[in-house]
Amino acid sequence: MSVYLDYNSSAPIDERVVDCMVGVYRNTIGNADSRTHDFGNHAREVTEDARAQVAELLGVQKNEVFFTSGATESNNIALQGLRDYAVETGKKHIITSSIEHKAVLETAKHLAKEGFEVEFVSPDTSGRVSAQEILDKVRPDTLVVSLMHVNNETGIIQPVLEVGKALEKKGVLFHIDATQSFGKLVDELRECKYDMLSMSAHKLRGPQGVGALILRRKNYKLPPVKNIMYGGQQEHGIRPGTIPVALVAGLGKACAIAGTEYRNNALKCTTIKERILSLLEESGVAYKIIGDQTYCVSGTLNVCFLGVSAEALMISTKQYCGISNGSACNSNSYSPSHVLIAMSIPKDEIESCVRFSWGAGADPEAVVESVNELLQVAKSLAF
Ligand code: PMP
Repeated sequence: MSVYLDYNSSAPIDERVVDCMVGVYRNTIGNADSRTHDFGNHAREVTEDARAQVAELLGVQKNEVFFTSGATESNNIALQGLRDYAVETGKKHIITSSIEHKAVLETAKHLAKEGFEVEFVSPDTSGRVSAQEILDKVRPDTLVVSLMHVNNETGIIQPVLEVGKALEKKGVLFHIDATQSFGKLVDELRECKYDMLSMSAHKLRGPQGVGALILRRKNYKLPPVKNIMYGGQQEHGIRPGTIPVALVAGLGKACAIAGTEYRNNALKCTTIKERILSLLEESGVAYKIIGDQTYCVSGTLNVCFLGVSAEALMISTKQYCGISNGSACNSNSYSPSHVLIAMSIPKDEIESCVRFSWGAGADPEAVVESVNELLQVAKSLAF
């Protein structure tokens, strides 16, 4: 049976989350915003419990959590929602990195067409952007800095702690896309100074189609983010639309589980990574690890199999494992990874890169077996 090694695209839902959601689907009817009956009140209670679970995991207040359909929407609201404030204050300079997810990159490029000035900072071959380079670009008219916490393609941790601390002193808004670190780098996220944070439940073994935007209050005031859709007052008006109660409950449950298990999960993931690295070393296959592993999360490994076509490798190892070569959001139009290009990886090497990503629930023995099979195939494909 093929082993799933594409957790960064979407992690398999936890059985305990499924049970929680089924319970909500069975026992909770009504709209969490209906005030005229107990059905609505009960749906609201479920929703608020989930909000508390998200808040607890991040060490924020409940009234700083706004449910969305996922990180793409959260990123869009965080950046596009600042339009009015930008016009009022004349602050139209945005700093971001060239390795962001398309949900940030495309949004920033769209804002550039509307007259915003967007500057992109690139990493070196380590895969990490420089905090200093970002801070050096800050100007009096800088509206926001948007930086991802962990890159989805390489697993490299970005310097959000340093940037957040410095920006707080400068009074510049800071948005982090924590989609790949939420529920994993729990302590770092609790320590990080940010104004806005985006995440999706399904990267954390929760359900697909739900996430949150965290808006930190300063002196009781929310960041100056406005809704980008119209239709209702749900989620403080920031995200109109009926709250999907069971999805939100699933997100809350995934957070509660992550809160008690994240340390153990990281250890299990590290063991799997060490085993994959030894297999690579012993295999005799020519390979390069992409990104500086000192800064890499425990559940991701991007490997360049020198002289092997990544497409051919992925197709001819489908029966052993499910891996990918970048973001699922771009996979219907093959173009070389913008992340690896930004890291100055040569084009022929980019075409030989694949990403393995896993979680604590993966069976180490099954992973070893499937990676061994993949390495045999890689050997036969090398030219
Ligand atoms: N940001 C990052 C870093 C991601 O990895 C992803 C998912 N690949 C997203 C944003 C978008 O998440 P979603 O598709 O759940 O909206």
